[in-house]
Amino acid sequence: MIYLDHNATTPVPPEVLDAVQPYFRDTFANPSSQHRLGERARAALEDARERVAAALGVRPAEIVFTSGGTESIHGALCGMTSCGARALVTTRVEHTAAALCADRLEKEGVPVHRLPVDRSGRVQPNVLEEALEAAGAPAALNLIWANNETGVLQDVQLLGGLARARGAIVHLDGVQLAGKGMPCLQDLPADMVSLSGHKFGAPKGAGVLWMRRGAPVRPRFAPGHQEGGLRGGTENLPGIVGLARALEVAKERWSENVSRIEALRDGLQRRIVEALPGTLVNGGDAPRIANTLNLSFHGIEGAGVVHSLSEEDIHVSSGSACLSDVDGPSPVLAAMGVPLDFIHGSLRFSLSWTTTSEEIDRVVDVTVGVVRRLQAMNPSRD
Ligand code: PLP
Repeated sequence: MIYLDHNATTPVPPEVLDAVQPYFRDTFANPSSQHRLGERARAALEDARERVAAALGVRPAEIVFTSGGTESIHGALCGMTSCGARALVTTRVEHTAAALCADRLEKEGVPVHRLPVDRSGRVQPNVLEEALEAAGAPAALNLIWANNETGVLQDVQLLGGLARARGAIVHLDGVQLAGKGMPCLQDLPADMVSLSGHKFGAPKGAGVLWMRRGAPVRPRFAPGHQEGGLRGGTENLPGIVGLARALEVAKERWSENVSRIEALRDGLQRRIVEALPGTLVNGGDAPRIANTLNLSFHGIEGAGVVHSLSEEDIHVSSGSACLSDVDGPSPVLAAMGVPLDFIHGSLRFSLSWTTTSEEIDRVVDVTVGVVRRLQAMNPSRD
């Protein structure tokens, strides 16, 4: 089996499985319980908080544990727009988690500005400045840091700095960058960052919202006494312990392997583009996370390629896993100006430190064969 769909979700490494197991079996108590077992569970929760904070370069008290990326983003966007922000400024290349939340807030009366991107998928600073001007101060800015479909990185130092200089509150969707070379959050021009454990080797169902101390915002989650009164509900202790361990493991493996991963991704890109001239590399001109490659082939359906590769036990994606049941053209690629007949033929490969050069050799051979066969079956393409 060859799995190149790590932006959709990741397997749980053995170190993380080992770390998690006692919290199902032995220390299974509710961290809010007053007995000894509850105290042990509470200590494990706070230990996980300290380790996550250390891995992100922030304070433990700034970490709110959630159920994942969608909940963190929802809490951040709803919190920002109910704490005095006059409008929400977001982009046209967000993950559905943020895009649908912005749609809902707009229906509820919040003015929403959706920033266009250039051909490489990046927000230009003058575009942000104009939107902030139109939004009026104080605004809330939401930015996807690393795009899940293309891997394109926004210049968050520049854009976040511009926004904060104009009094905006800034949230970053850091889901695809966590564990993949994410810099220290304390030094960022941002107030909140969302993370999701299952994107970097934790079990599904645990996430983080980092919230800078003193930020003029309170996230909006279900009320309750847990998480310092910010997010109610019994904590997913095994998931949270797994998230803390997974972040440490991912950071280490990523830094040991990033040049190798990038070389494998670049080789995959070069060999497919050489064999199939006319293929578009979406976001290829922008800074990208090293593990992600998004290609568009003319005149075929990406979903068809995914199914054919899957028959060969190669697992990739035709875009965002969260969009694959919606079937519409990717709004991210459309915002980048990719022609519609290419958007339908797009394919995302997302690698990991476990990916080998032998796997890449086989993926190149099989992909080139499948795309050639499907293109030959479509006589209307040029
Ligand atoms: N944001 C980005 C960029 C993502 O890639 C994803 C998941 O695909 C999410 C948010 C949502 O995260 P979760 O699946 O943990 O809700």
